[in-house]
Amino acid sequence: MKVLVTGSAGRVGSFVVRQLLEAGHQVRGFDLRSALIDDAGFDEVVGAFDDREAAARACEGIDAVLHLGAFMSWLASDRDRLFQANVEGTRIVAEAAVAAKVGRFVFASSGEVYPENRPEFQPITEDHPKEPLSPYGLTKLLGEELVTFQGRVSSMETVILRFSHTQNADELLDPDSFFSGPRFFLRPKIKQQEAFGNRTAADLLRAADPGRPALVLTRNENGRPFKMHITDTRDMARGVLLALSHPKAAGGVFNLGATDPVDFAEVLPVMADRIGWPLVTVDLPGSGVWYHTSNQRIREALGFEPKWPIMRMLDEAVAAWTTRQS
Ligand code: NAD
Repeated sequence: MKVLVTGSAGRVGSFVVRQLLEAGHQVRGFDLRSALIDDAGFDEVVGAFDDREAAARACEGIDAVLHLGAFMSWLASDRDRLFQANVEGTRIVAEAAVAAKVGRFVFASSGEVYPENRPEFQPITEDHPKEPLSPYGLTKLLGEELVTFQGRVSSMETVILRFSHTQNADELLDPDSFFSGPRFFLRPKIKQQEAFGNRTAADLLRAADPGRPALVLTRNENGRPFKMHITDTRDMARGVLLALSHPKAAGGVFNLGATDPVDFAEVLPVMADRIGWPLVTVDLPGSGVWYHTSNQRIREALGFEPKWPIMRMLDEAVAAWTTRQS
């Protein structure tokens, strides 16, 4: 099979490319950046998803598209770029795929379409109302519609995967990581809240600074610790590959992520203990993050079975931390 992987230089995309190459497929990447992969089975188009000519070149001679690339930002200043990449870009890639007679198109959506932070019921299933609260979540919902539409009016099979939060294990304990920095580390979290204009949260976090770098256990205003899914990239890649090849995936919508959510009150003390940093607890205004998303459909329909629960990821995260320290 010749597979187009968009977002081929990104976290999930670059891993999926390597998996496909190892399985003997021909792979083309499509990303703003080169994936820097030197393999006889790999070629790439470096360009933007909303560039019609680049999208046509990317889809030429392709059997299946894994549209994993997107722009992720929650900053108001990034709003135009967000819609250009995720909505207009998805429309143009999906149209190019139909024009090239691609057989299957897999789209990386997000749990933010529900939304996860204010669910009507839990665990969140695929039938939960789709009412995103973030512009990013809205771009993903619009992307789902654009892809599904193309499937409806052509013979191209579509698969929607609503991704859980996803990380490489070696990012988990990196204060400079885009995700883990502000999620687990106090000073990066202060910076993030300042950038979002959340002055009260930033002040509360700053007041807890022990005068040296620290981890932070965030809870809501009633002291309920945050809880959310954090899925290892390797498990996500396994789900993406099932969506690519499984006959029962065609036309389907699936939540894709770890089976159990991560309880921050359980994991943060372990992190602090393993790296020897202080841990502070901060109660932030609002209802906080506390959700459980069901992956039952993809487990039952496609046989998805995640293999990297958070504690297993942590072992690798600690090893990466130790390497960075030395
Ligand atoms: P990533 O940021 O690591 O990679 C995304 C890639 O897309 C980057 O290499 C970037 O250069 C490329 N890209 C962005 N805008 C582009 C454009 N306009 N044209 C061409 N290339 C462009 O992301 P990831 O963590 O690998 O996520 C993969 C997918 O999963 C994305 O669609 C993302 O929205 C979705 N998702 C991710 C998470 C997560 O926690 N990582 C959670 C839910 C959904």
